[in-house]
Amino acid sequence: MNKDIATPIRTQQIMDKHGLTVKKSLGQNFLIDPNILRKIVGKAELTKESAAIEIGPGIGALTEHLARAAGKVLAFEIDQRLLPVLEDTLSPYDNISIIHSDILKADVEAAIEKELAGYKDIVVVANLPYYVTTPIIMKLLLEKLPIRGLVVMLQKEVAERITAKPGTKAYGSLSIAIQYYTDAEMALTVPKTVFMPQPNVDSAVIRMMKLPEPRVKVIDEDFFFTVTRGSFVQRRKTILNNLQSAMPNGKEKKELVLKALEEAGIEPSRRGETLSIAEFGLLADKLYPYFA
Ligand code: SAM
Repeated sequence: MNKDIATPIRTQQIMDKHGLTVKKSLGQNFLIDPNILRKIVGKAELTKESAAIEIGPGIGALTEHLARAAGKVLAFEIDQRLLPVLEDTLSPYDNISIIHSDILKADVEAAIEKELAGYKDIVVVANLPYYVTTPIIMKLLLEKLPIRGLVVMLQKEVAERITAKPGTKAYGSLSIAIQYYTDAEMALTVPKTVFMPQPNVDSAVIRMMKLPEPRVKVIDEDFFFTVTRGSFVQRRKTILNNLQSAMPNGKEKKELVLKALEEAGIEPSRRGETLSIAEFGLLADKLYPYFA
């Protein structure tokens, strides 16, 4: 097996060889611990029949572990300076395609069709750039790509919000948006010492496996998300208060908000953080005829 990229010495050697300095603005914190990489890749349960999509390969630390475990790896990297570095560090592998692109602007579906044709099992595995974790995850879920799920490293605080259950402080519209599409669970907590340079915040790996169907069936998804977001705008306020602000002319139409709450069997004095996703689904459907 080839020598791991992800050791402190090898990483430094690669950076020196290519005269590379990290760009903090692009969230560049490279992994320098092969053990953590094995654990992350293990959580994705890849076989040679699977393909992996990586966001931000950096200098290739995770990419090579994915190339060993999966049949094919497709990676998107925004930083042009890293392309020749990756060409060099990943030269022992013939099952990796790198696309130079901002993942938020990339046509991921077309890239999957072109690069991963024939792969039925596709998982996103990444150590995400922390300045943009939520938009990346939401893009990959909303585009309804043919993926089994995502295993990603991100800030521990965001990981806690994504995986939070009702009745907890961390539970909010982000938990609901992601758990609407996936089973989201905390997979690993990760010390700062496994990165170079070390990030300012604690990190965690979460596993989000897509559900065959969204968790609740609703009349209108956009309206459902308007209701969930609106219910948490002022966390300390009641669901009634928040909905009156979130619904068009909700203040004047208080009676209709109350009616929908009653039809959904939800006490107007409850706070958004106590409602399950099923309750939000029902509530959105009851509000829909009055406010959509
Ligand atoms: N995978 C490498 C590792 O674990 O060592 C690097 C991870 S580093 C936290 C994040 C990577 O994402 C960097 O290589 C950075 O250049 C890249 N990146 C940042 N923003 C991006 C974007 N919008 N699209 C694609 N890649 C991006």
